[in-house]
Amino acid sequence: LSDKLQNIFKNLRKKGKLTEEDVKSALKEVKLALLEADVSFKVVKSFMKDVQDRAVGADVMNGLNPGQMVIKIVSDELTSLMGSEMVDLKLNPQTSMTVIMMMGLNGAGKTTTSAKLAAKLKSRGYRPLLAGLDIYRPAAVKQLQVNAEKIGIDVYWDDKHEFLPPDIAKNAVGYAQQNGYNIVILDTAGRLQIDKDMMDELHEIKEKVTVDDSILVVDAMTGQDAVNVASAFEEKVGIDGVILTKLDGDTRGGVALSIRATVGKPILYVGMGEKLDDLQQFYPDRMASRILGMGDVMTLIEKAQQNVNEEQARAMEQKLRKASFGFDDYLASMDQMKKMGGMKSVLSMIPGVSTSQMSQFEDAIDEKAMARTEAIIYSMTPKERSNPDILTPSRRARVAKGAGVSIDEVNRLCRQFEQSRKLMKQYGNMLKGGKKRRGFG
Ligand code: GDP
Ligand code: MG
Repeated sequence: LSDKLQNIFKNLRKKGKLTEEDVKSALKEVKLALLEADVSFKVVKSFMKDVQDRAVGADVMNGLNPGQMVIKIVSDELTSLMGSEMVDLKLNPQTSMTVIMMMGLNGAGKTTTSAKLAAKLKSRGYRPLLAGLDIYRPAAVKQLQVNAEKIGIDVYWDDKHEFLPPDIAKNAVGYAQQNGYNIVILDTAGRLQIDKDMMDELHEIKEKVTVDDSILVVDAMTGQDAVNVASAFEEKVGIDGVILTKLDGDTRGGVALSIRATVGKPILYVGMGEKLDDLQQFYPDRMASRILGMGDVMTLIEKAQQNVNEEQARAMEQKLRKASFGFDDYLASMDQMKKMGGMKSVLSMIPGVSTSQMSQFEDAIDEKAMARTEAIIYSMTPKERSNPDILTPSRRARVAKGAGVSIDEVNRLCRQFEQSRKLMKQYGNMLKGGKKRRGFG
C-alpha cells in the first residue's frame, strides 16, 4: 500500500499545478491502492466518498498547491477514519481492581501481548497479575510464565488442573484481591478460527468476573480476514479495544483502517516486534502518515508555508534530497526553524527522531548560542562550510581561534551538525518516499 501511495504522491508533489483531472485520477489510484492492501471494499468506498466530498469545491488555500491540498485531505480523512484521537485502556484507580481480558485467534499474539501490556502497566505503577487461561495447548501456560519471568510479573494458573477457564479467571481475580495486585490480565485460549466454544467460553468468563477491558488481539498480517474476525468478536463477546500485532512485519496498514471503520472500536496499541518492550501506543495520525509513507510531511509543509518562501523551501528540499547539507545550510535551517516554531517542534514531526536526539538541539536555537555558532561557522573557509568532513583537528583549532571559542565548542557544533545532517537525510529520504519508516508510534 505505502509504496503505491508514495508513488502517487511523489507524482503529485512534483507537479506545480494540478488540474481537476489530476485529482480525479489520483483518487482512482488511491482507491486501487487501498483495495490492493486488503482494506475492505465498503471502507474504501466510504473513504473515497469522504475524500471526494471534501476535495470537490475545497479551496486550495494557505498558499498550498493543489497537490499538497489533496495530500492534506487524504491524510486528514485517513486519520479521522482511524479515530483522530489516541485512546487508552479503561483503567480503574490503583486502589481497586481492573480486569483485562485478552482474546483472539491462535497465533494472534495474545500471550506475548499480555506480557507486554503487563510490563507497560507495571512501569506505570500498577501491580499486574497475569492469568493463564489457555488450558488447551500444552505449552501455553509455560510460554506465559517464561515471558512473565523476563519482566518480573507473577502468573496465576490452575496448577492442579481442576478448573475450566471461567473459574480460573474468577480464582485469579480472587487471588489478586487477596495479594495486593490491582490489575489482572486474562490470557485466554484462542482457536484456529472463529468458533462457538471459544465465544461461549469468553462469554462465561465475562459472567464470572467483571471485565473492564475486552481486548481483541489481531495479527495485522491477516489482511481482510481481520475484519471478519473483529466483527465476529464484537458481535458475540463485545470488544472495548483492539491491539494490532506484527506491525513490524511486511505490514498492511489497511487492517487498522478497516477494523476501525468496521467495528468502530479504537485501536489502543500496536505490537512492533517479538521483544516484550515492542508495544507502542497507537496514534491515528501517525498511522495515516505511515500508510501514506511520508511522516507528518503535510504538517511540515503547512508550517513552512507560513514563514518560508517557496523558493527557499524548494532549494532546501533539493539539498535534502541530495543530502548535500553543509554548514551554510545549517545556519539557514536554524533560521527557518526559528520561524517555524523552534527546532523541537520541527523535529517532532520527523519519524524516528528520539527524545534524546531532540534534547540535543534544545539549546542550539538559543539566541546567544546561535551567535557563537554563527561566529564559528563564519570562521570556516567556504570549502569547509560546504564540506564539513574535511574539518580535521588542526582545522578545528584554527576555526576555534578565529571565532574566539574553545575547541570543545567547535567539536560540539560539529557533532550537532552531524546529528542534524543525519536527521535531514532521514527527512530527505522521507520526502523521496524512502523506505526507512522506523519511527512509528
Ligand atoms: P497467541 O496464540 O495469541 O497467544 O500468540 P502468541 O503470543 O503465542 O504469539 C504468536 C507468535 O507471534 C509468537 O511467535 C510471537 O513471538 C509472535 N508475535 C507476537 N506479537 C508480535 C509482534 O508484534 N511482532 C512480531 N514480529 N511477532 C509477534
Ligand atoms: Mg497464547
